Amino acid sequence: MLKNANTVILNVDDYEPARYATSRILRGAGFEVLEAATGAETLRLVAEQPDLVILDVNLPDMHGFEVCRRIKADPHTARIPVLHLSASYRGSEARVKGLEGGADGYLTTPVEPEELVASVKALLRLRQVEREVQESEERFRSLTTAFAQVVWTTDAKGDVIADLPQWRALTGQAEDEIKGDGWLNAVHPEDRKRTATAWKHAIETRSPYRIEFRLRMRDGSYRYFQGRGVSVPQSGGQVREWVGVCVDIHERKQTEMALRKHNERLQLLSDAASRLLLTEDPRKYIEHLYRRLSTALGLEVFLNYLVIENGEQLRLNAYDGLPTRLARTLEHLDFDNPICGCATRERKAYVIEDVQASSNPRAELLRSLGLAAYTCHPLVANNHLIGTLSFGTRTRARFTKDELALLQTISDQIAAAVERTRLLAELRQQATALTEANQAKADFLAVMSHELRTPLNAILGFTDLLELGVAGPVTEKQREQLGRITASSRHLLHLIEGILGFARLEAGRVEVQTEPVELTQLMWEAAALIEPLVQKKGLHLRLTVPEAPLILDTDAGKVRQIVLNLLSNAVKFTRQGEVELEVHTSESGVVLRVRDTGIGIPPDELERIFDPFAQVEQSRSQRADGTGLGLSVTRQLARLLGGEVSVESEPGTGSTFTVRLSPQAHVDSPIGAAETPVTV
Ligand code: ADP
Repeated sequence: MLKNANTVILNVDDYEPARYATSRILRGAGFEVLEAATGAETLRLVAEQPDLVILDVNLPDMHGFEVCRRIKADPHTARIPVLHLSASYRGSEARVKGLEGGADGYLTTPVEPEELVASVKALLRLRQVEREVQESEERFRSLTTAFAQVVWTTDAKGDVIADLPQWRALTGQAEDEIKGDGWLNAVHPEDRKRTATAWKHAIETRSPYRIEFRLRMRDGSYRYFQGRGVSVPQSGGQVREWVGVCVDIHERKQTEMALRKHNERLQLLSDAASRLLLTEDPRKYIEHLYRRLSTALGLEVFLNYLVIENGEQLRLNAYDGLPTRLARTLEHLDFDNPICGCATRERKAYVIEDVQASSNPRAELLRSLGLAAYTCHPLVANNHLIGTLSFGTRTRARFTKDELALLQTISDQIAAAVERTRLLAELRQQATALTEANQAKADFLAVMSHELRTPLNAILGFTDLLELGVAGPVTEKQREQLGRITASSRHLLHLIEGILGFARLEAGRVEVQTEPVELTQLMWEAAALIEPLVQKKGLHLRLTVPEAPLILDTDAGKVRQIVLNLLSNAVKFTRQGEVELEVHTSESGVVLRVRDTGIGIPPDELERIFDPFAQVEQSRSQRADGTGLGLSVTRQLARLLGGEVSVESEPGTGSTFTVRLSPQAHVDSPIGAAETPVTV
């Protein structure tokens, strides 16, 4: 492009010899020259922004004055100097006309080469000065815009007396309009009083002045500024003047406000989440939440509908911003009504903006409610439509994306909370039903076992009498059969006792009677009781106990039952080898252990065997007697005593049951004291 090249002159003349002569002079003076012979050509070349145009007046297609007028009329070319050079229009009239038409100079030929070059240079210098002024003006304008700072001074009384060009540039106020306290008229009406008061206060107290206000810009928009000032004292302590600055803080303020809004919304969301979690009935909380939302977002109307159970209808649960009479007419709605739109069926948020101008047929009703924008959100949790939540505003025609997202999140939170309380209520109901069923089962077992025990005792009693011959002589054969009746009855009684014990435990009817119990002694007794069974199966019983007495505050009967249950299982499920009963203290309390070399328990059964009636599947030939209640009772008893039972086992090798009585139980003999185990 030509713009930054050396000085370029467009030389226009239709008479070639004259044009040639002029170009020669110009080139001789060091200019670059473009040539044109017609008006049209000139207007085309001028677009390339030559630094000056030498323009003949008499052109074949267009008058030179017209060409000049067009150059000056186009803002892109208006600043290019035009020098008319005419051979035919020589009179002063033509000269005046040419200059008035916008030309910057007028020469007639013949012209001395020096005069031509001097005229061209003079016009170029003028152009250069003009350009510099223009550039400096632009620079000043962009500086004031970029910094948007005003440095100001007032007299001691606080009146503006000096001109404030930066203030003028920003606000468009004239110099006179700023004087005194006229500058206040450019401050936003809502901020004006506050600003004036602060300024007055600063002057009266001679304290630093600092305030934020909105200032009207020359285009009518408002921007946030911070005004700061201090008094300048003169010798003698009096105030000489005030000086200060006004700084544009618009961007910062906008960011601050956006951040505050964002924080408020986050706070609202987190409050809502925690309140909804804590509240017993979230439906009651919806109204409170709405009030906070309406303040935060400036919403005037709110409607909350809940789905009527088993129906395609909605019932108004809460509302605001509508007259009661009107709300009553909206109390029950079908799913497809204009208030809920597609929120119910399609479960999508439904938004109508610019309601007053909307052609949407659903807008009709909303218009009659005086709404300008409206949104309805479905309350869906677990794929289950609970209701809808609608918000409307009468003052704004649209919602922002952020607002809609916030409303959606709140709706989701409410839906989740309502669903959570519904599930909780359901769970509670189930838990009550389960407890009741369990109680009924325990009651049934207790009653049944009790009722069975009485006739069974009668059977045993009368069998004894028969065996004793009270009713007459008994033959050997009869005695043998009576023996079987007795054995079976005893076995049955044992089973019933087990069930009764379990039922009592389940019903929570078992009390712990704590007393100091000497555990070593108790182990000896338990071993003695089980000894006959051990011998009958040809097994060996080993007892490992501390030499010193081991005293524990506990319930002797329950500890005995625990040990006997474990010992009888050990004997029952061991075909050869030995059964060991061990007791010792450990850091965490007292440990009772029953170890056997029996059939063992498969790993996946280890936890299940503690469930009531659970038994490990055995082949018919291996099946042992039992109800599957022993271990369940054992675990419950251990827990009643503040302890726990665990098992380790390897099928085919044996099992070890360990009972730990927790430290809560008071132990009289010091735990962990040196002991010498005695093995029998
Ligand atoms: P029961 O002995 O009356 O069947 P329990 O509750 O005492 O009921 O035991 C449940 C099941 O656990 C037993 O049927 C048995 O399959 C398994 N079991 C218990 N103790 C042992 C053991 N010492 N060795 C192998 N299996 C055992």
